[in-house]
Amino acid sequence: MTLAPEATSADAGNPAGPAPTFDSIDPGRGTVLGSYPVASDADVADAVARAQEAATWWRARGFDGRRRILKAFKGVLAREIEDLAEVVHLENGKPRSDAILEVAIAIDHLEWASKHAAKVLGPRRVPSGLLASNQAATLEYQPLGVVGVIGPWNYPVFTPMGSIAYALAAGNAVVFKPSEHTPGVGVWLGDAWRRAVPERPDVLQVVTGLGATGGALCRAGVDKVAFTGSAPTGRRVMAACAENLVPVLMELGGKDAMIVDDDADVSAAVDAALWGGMSNAGQTCVGIERVYATDAVYDRFVAELTARAAEVRTGSGDDAHYGPITMPSQVGIIERHIADAVASGGRVLTGGTVADGVVAPTVMVDVPEDSAAVREETFGPTLTVARVRSADEAIERTNATPYGLAGAIFTRSAKRGVALARQMRTGMASINAVNAFSTIPALPFGGVGESGFGRIHGADGLREFSRSKAITRQRFALPIPTTSFRRPPEVTERLVKVIRLVHGRS
Ligand code: NAD
Repeated sequence: MTLAPEATSADAGNPAGPAPTFDSIDPGRGTVLGSYPVASDADVADAVARAQEAATWWRARGFDGRRRILKAFKGVLAREIEDLAEVVHLENGKPRSDAILEVAIAIDHLEWASKHAAKVLGPRRVPSGLLASNQAATLEYQPLGVVGVIGPWNYPVFTPMGSIAYALAAGNAVVFKPSEHTPGVGVWLGDAWRRAVPERPDVLQVVTGLGATGGALCRAGVDKVAFTGSAPTGRRVMAACAENLVPVLMELGGKDAMIVDDDADVSAAVDAALWGGMSNAGQTCVGIERVYATDAVYDRFVAELTARAAEVRTGSGDDAHYGPITMPSQVGIIERHIADAVASGGRVLTGGTVADGVVAPTVMVDVPEDSAAVREETFGPTLTVARVRSADEAIERTNATPYGLAGAIFTRSAKRGVALARQMRTGMASINAVNAFSTIPALPFGGVGESGFGRIHGADGLREFSRSKAITRQRFALPIPTTSFRRPPEVTERLVKVIRLVHGRS
């Protein structure tokens, strides 16, 4: 399958010749899937200018109008789910079934965002309080204008749609710069919007290109940038946005841990660790990379995990559990982490090898906590398993990295599970499951520390792409004015008395 590249205005009549392009490569077969324009600074500025106009129209649709249009967009995605999943499969390398799951979750988020936007963001009366009882107070959340979305390649639909769906539902136009590794997915989404909403194609536009195109988007007059990617790139995006005080949302990497407590269902924990660590070839921001198992369960957990890991099938075929590493350069990082683990005393129980771009399912033990495999984001199908005396020690170790995206806890005690989840220095935690929060649209998604800040999904995700507007309406004049140069002197004395009476006794 060759993906159809998008023609841009830069191609037509360009006196400098055709615009530069870049290729999208199938990581499984190494073939070129399509060539895409490298959008220039001018192309990006044009797209943002068109988006600004479209944003006025989009905002004027109101919540109901936008819901109707977003339903039409959702309908296209749902009807053509297999087509979109095929593009994800080809460009990212993940199995078709995983690509279908990814698109399905994104559609569910789009539905939630458009359905709940009015309730979360619409005008509502709030109490006026003691000193302003003559005022009616209203709070509402207004769109920002144009949101620039810069996305990664690992979940090229789910991840950017976490920003796009919520930004659109909140009333913003969007200009989306997909990863250079998955441009076809981005272009597909832009085309789907045009088919669903032919009268206003500029509400959701896609610009393709490399990092510089992302940098241009930061400087093109957008009202916010929603960035998903690595922390080093996130810093560059923030620096570019700082030039014009453009606010940013940062969804960055992780080094998520799973804690397996004394009373855990060990088989369930093994199953979840395998999926959490190795699905999508471990290229998941909220993927499990470290496991801390208590003395009571460690031996059983390691034995079962090693046996089950050997059953994981890899490759590009339809029966594969996961595929090749999407970005060839990542293979070197994964190999370095494995080599560093071994050099510092760790043991590879299974895997540790790379063939045809596929990293074998890898389980490592006895890896020191200061090794790269435990401290840095590996982004490959590897798990380190460490023995701990207790879940409390596991929490300490979990929280000892600069990352703080998500984590998982396995215990039969609901109370203990929740207590441990609260202590994890992360934005999200699942008990007796992995990544369950991703599939629940009402829950916010985002990290702390090096994992970023701001939230997509849920009510917080809608508010992330809005600005609060406070409106007061004076219902009647106070008999004695407090905010006027005609204020009589005794008002201050009375105010002191009232404040002491109401607040002074606590
Ligand atoms: P990356 O940082 O290399 O690139 C992300 C995007 O930024 C790409 O579209 C890229 O073209 C663009 N970019 C590069 N340089 C830029 C610049 N100077 N200015 C503006 N944009 C620029 O990340 P990646 O390799 O595509 O994705 C993998 C990373 O993303 C991992 O660290 C992963 O954990 C993280 N991630 C986080 C989440 C989350 O929600 N927290 C989700 C998925 C992936």
